[in-house]
Amino acid sequence: MTIRFKLLFFVLCFLSVTISSCFKWAARAENKLPKETALQKTYNYNGKVIIVGAGAAGLAAAKVLEENNIDYKILEASDRYGGRLKKNTTLADFPIDLGAEWIHSAPIVLNKLKGKAGDQIDESLIPYHVEETYSWDGQNYEKDAQAQNDFMYKFMPESKFKNSTWYDFVNENIAATVKHKIEFNSPVTEINYLDNKVQVKTKNEAIHTADKVLLTVSIGVLKSNHITFTPDLSMEKKEAINSIIFHPGFKLVMKFKEKFYPDAINCEVETGEKGFYDIAFKKEAQSNILGLLVTGNSTEAYYKLESEEEIVQSAIAELDLIFDDKASETFTGEYIFENWGQHQFTMGTWTQAFQQKNSELKILNQSLEKKVYFAGEINDVYQQMGVPGAVLSGYHSIDKLLTE
Ligand SMILES: Cc1cc2nc3c(=O)[nH]c(=O)nc-3n(C[C@H](O)[C@H](O)[C@H](O)COP(=O)(O)OP(=O)(O)OC[C@H]3O[C@@H](n4cnc5c(N)ncnc54)[C@H](O)[C@@H]3O)c2cc1C
Repeated sequence: MTIRFKLLFFVLCFLSVTISSCFKWAARAENKLPKETALQKTYNYNGKVIIVGAGAAGLAAAKVLEENNIDYKILEASDRYGGRLKKNTTLADFPIDLGAEWIHSAPIVLNKLKGKAGDQIDESLIPYHVEETYSWDGQNYEKDAQAQNDFMYKFMPESKFKNSTWYDFVNENIAATVKHKIEFNSPVTEINYLDNKVQVKTKNEAIHTADKVLLTVSIGVLKSNHITFTPDLSMEKKEAINSIIFHPGFKLVMKFKEKFYPDAINCEVETGEKGFYDIAFKKEAQSNILGLLVTGNSTEAYYKLESEEEIVQSAIAELDLIFDDKASETFTGEYIFENWGQHQFTMGTWTQAFQQKNSELKILNQSLEKKVYFAGEINDVYQQMGVPGAVLSGYHSIDKLLTE
């Protein structure tokens, strides 16, 4: 080969690898996973730690503290743990995720989250390779080309738990050994890090003291100023918090006597997402359960309605328009409405770090004088999404807290 030909050959090889990996987000995400997490390390830390929030990130950080016999407690605002992970077991003959539902990246990520070596996963999963999807713009209902679904699956081969949920996964593999350390109904209202020790005040005026604090509340809670800081957050930090897109939204889960709908109906929206989808997709279930997931500015029209019942009626009316009244004819009247966008301890749905500037993400991750640290899905440094990002941020931030 001449030198020029060799060069051309290498350029072509490089381009083909780059282009094909661009079209495989999941493979890229898998490559970004850390080789080891805080679960594989040991720590000697004699101080006391308070974790604020018992969602995926807070529970993951707690697991590391528990395994290293470090003194800690978790202050959780609500009366349950899991945060944006929640399941229902009464509506259908299979458990339903009311919050996070899909595993967006390669299944191997599950081993990383629970600290298991190797690439054999224990969980039974359903590949989310949909076959029959439609697009709906309010007037036209059109079948999508199968090539589009195939491309999406190649780009992002998502999966779902077969007989289980994201909540179960985190409950069994992360929360199990730390849930006894949660103080429920303890919304934190003030964090004072002026002195050597950090003081954390809860709504009932109780004051908790620790050497270091890990704050894992959602970006929506941080934006709402529900928690005040002394000294105040820097302008730079406030701007970084406010720059993060955190759409309002909800999940409505409805039960029907028969299945008249396809795998998914993608609705046209200006921002965020709106889609009806078969929640029982390949679940080997008898129940016909259709979900409506809405985020972004199309949420506003629903929020203007007077009640939850009106929101359900509006969803049924939209389906009737597409399916010639089939929805109202077969709706059992049973539903669950999980309104994450207006839940005071969530105030939104999810963030997508790839939409944000790296400089803003970096600022969000900076501790407050090495006394108050941040974790949560938006603090993930491994470019994952959703639950994996939240859990990994818990491991990463607690490592920083214990070693800096
Ligand atoms: C409808 C919906 C669908 C989703 N779908 C997916 C999906 O398919 N796949 C995926 O991977 N991800 C999905 N996500 C995102 C995923 O749920 C989140 O990324 C992840 O659960 C965030 O975990 P976290 O610990 O960062 O935050 P959170 O789960 O929000 O946990 C924060 C905790 O802090 C508590 N808290 C709040 N304020 C205070 C306070 N003042 N004092 C004390 N405690 C406080 C909260 O009650 C909560 O328990 C979805 C989210 C939603 C809402």
